[in-house]
Amino acid sequence: MKLTVLTDNNTYIDQYYLGEPALCFYIEEEDRRILFDTGYSDVFLKNAAKMRIDLREISAVAFSHGHNDHTGGLAHLLNTGYRGKVVAHPDTFLRRGDETGEIGSPLSEEEIAGKCELTSSREPVRLSKDLLWLGEIPETVAFEKRLPIGRVLKDGSWEEDRIFDDTALVCERENGIFVITGCSHSGICNIIEYARKITGKQNVLGVIGGFHLLKEDDRLLQTAKWLKDNGVLSLYPCHCVSLAARIALAKEMPIREVAVGMKLDI
Ligand SMILES: [Zn+2]
Ligand SMILES: [Zn+2]
Repeated sequence: MKLTVLTDNNTYIDQYYLGEPALCFYIEEEDRRILFDTGYSDVFLKNAAKMRIDLREISAVAFSHGHNDHTGGLAHLLNTGYRGKVVAHPDTFLRRGDETGEIGSPLSEEEIAGKCELTSSREPVRLSKDLLWLGEIPETVAFEKRLPIGRVLKDGSWEEDRIFDDTALVCERENGIFVITGCSHSGICNIIEYARKITGKQNVLGVIGGFHLLKEDDRLLQTAKWLKDNGVLSLYPCHCVSLAARIALAKEMPIREVAVGMKLDI
């Protein structure tokens, strides 16, 4: 599997790609071409063009969750003529808001289903022989309770949003698994545990993505310790991992830098 970072908050010096506080990965696995999230704007299209990646060859778009820094780019992809598969949890395209305004997907489920082949699932969906979209993540790690962020419009009423749509991808290799996350609102350790359960493989070769670790608190220290104790071999924190959190993680294990244009062979 080859993963290319099309959108992230970070850019490398001397590489003139565009950054934005959002996430989009392009994944090549056997004959499949998967887009994991679409960032906030059309930045992923501009970066892909500069990298000479032809997004007309995409076989599916899989979403980590519905926040607009992950779903905002879909409208721009549809404008290029994309009419293929979209894989998402049933809550992904619900309206969401917080004190800053709307933070959910700019497109509704109806708008997407009318143009694309939408697979709406809580259960895992296989994207290729060895690549799996995980679906709804159960809470199994004691210190990783789902925390509400903003509000969501469900069945006509606004309620606290615990982001049940938040999920990830897992790539199976002979010697273990590699986990690819969006924002990890479900908890990065909960996600890894579920990926292990679904694949039956315990060895974690690596994890890339946003871990939603921002504050210096107990949960951060417990997460860093858990990742070390569970033998995660390589860690690529990006997007929603603050500098303080990266420093805390780096005290437990080596971490790698992520930026737009980074390519990873897994
Ligand atoms: Zn989010
Ligand atoms: Zn995010």
